[in-house]
Amino acid sequence: MTDPIDTPTPRRKPKPEVTTLGGRELKPSTLMMGFGYDPALSEGSLKPPIFLTSTFAFESAEAGKRHFERITGVREGGAEGLVYSRFNGPNQEILEDRLGIWDGAEDALVFSSGMSAIATLLLAWCSAGDVVVHSGPLYAATEGFIGKVLGKYGVTYLDFPAGASREEIDSVIARAKEQAARQGGKLALVYLESPANPTNALVDIEAVAAARDAAFEGEEARPPVAIDNTFLGPLWQRPLKHGADIVVYSLTKYAGGHSDLVAGGLSGSKAMMDPIRALRNTMGTICDPNTAWMLLRSLETLEIRMEKAGRNAAAVCAFLKDHPKVDGLGYLGMIEDSHQQDIFRRHCTGAGSTFSLFVKGGEAESFRFLDSLCVAKLAVSLGGTETLASHPAAMTHLSVPAERKRALGITDNLVRISIGIEDAGDLIADFDQALAAV
Ligand SMILES: *Cc1c(COP(=O)(O)O)cnc(C)c1O
Repeated sequence: MTDPIDTPTPRRKPKPEVTTLGGRELKPSTLMMGFGYDPALSEGSLKPPIFLTSTFAFESAEAGKRHFERITGVREGGAEGLVYSRFNGPNQEILEDRLGIWDGAEDALVFSSGMSAIATLLLAWCSAGDVVVHSGPLYAATEGFIGKVLGKYGVTYLDFPAGASREEIDSVIARAKEQAARQGGKLALVYLESPANPTNALVDIEAVAAARDAAFEGEEARPPVAIDNTFLGPLWQRPLKHGADIVVYSLTKYAGGHSDLVAGGLSGSKAMMDPIRALRNTMGTICDPNTAWMLLRSLETLEIRMEKAGRNAAAVCAFLKDHPKVDGLGYLGMIEDSHQQDIFRRHCTGAGSTFSLFVKGGEAESFRFLDSLCVAKLAVSLGGTETLASHPAAMTHLSVPAERKRALGITDNLVRISIGIEDAGDLIADFDQALAAV
């Protein structure tokens, strides 16, 4: 029996929960229907209600005191139970438990957006004088946050290209350690994004983790390796298995999957999440209960949505590959570079449904193609049930200097496509007639 005074507000469900059946480990797609929620605690309601409350009642004054002793570290064991909605809530905690299941993570945190997750992570792990090493390119707002916002607080960065070899990664980590020593700080974090947007270049997570381990051998503290897994996760890439410490999501994309919400997530060990949770508690970057509830619904269909979108993308790319008006495809199912192929084989279990289409010609031809699409919608973002198309050079990456655009391969004939779960034949017919109109 737990001491009633020691548990301020009863947890949603006693832990640990059943995740195996006769020696069989239950799969994430099964656990998404019920894990982390006990109907008996909510009047038998099969689905979790949306808990619209800003605060939670303590059972006694003593229980309230225990909570604050734990949250402030006066008492061992960390915060337990629910107290105030800037810190946590039942819908968000169920969502965190289920996100952690997908990634095979001990702990997870959800946020009001992908960017608030990323910003809270970076602020929690970096101090003045520190250096961040990151792969490039990154999502533009992430690159801006590291370069411009962290720069204001005396944090500098070094980057390496997504496809870099072990030697190149070793060299950038060594330079970052020197730079940190000069600045009176440390190499605080290695931040990756793979596949990179919009090039789809993959980062060798195993090589990065091995390089970090080698560079910090015998040292007490090692910088965590964090990776933005928005494009392939959580179904097709499980970075914690390959040596990453923290997995980052814009849950707005495939996890949410219906283009009707904005949210973010992080997962990893409790030790990795604790400093981030403390800062999230202070700033209130947690997602709201309604969004968390919608994400719980989304996670129930995550696997079937992503599988269908992945099959559709393979069919559409097979059609586009040899089309006379197509100059090339940046699709993970059709990688030509042998190093990239090797990374894909080791890290990924699927090619995703977001790819680059190079239309023969330039901006005018690409725009004619985009304006002729009927089924696919013209919008930025990705990972929704509907197919979206956009023109990075003129839209998301408009402000990127010409030279950097060239280096990243963001050309005027590049169209970015995120395939949804429509009928594959209808999508092919749409691309066929739009290419005919170019
Ligand atoms: C969209 C996106 C983000 C930012 O997420 P928001 O939910 O829009 O804040 C970060 N990383 C990647 C790879 C993304 O696609």
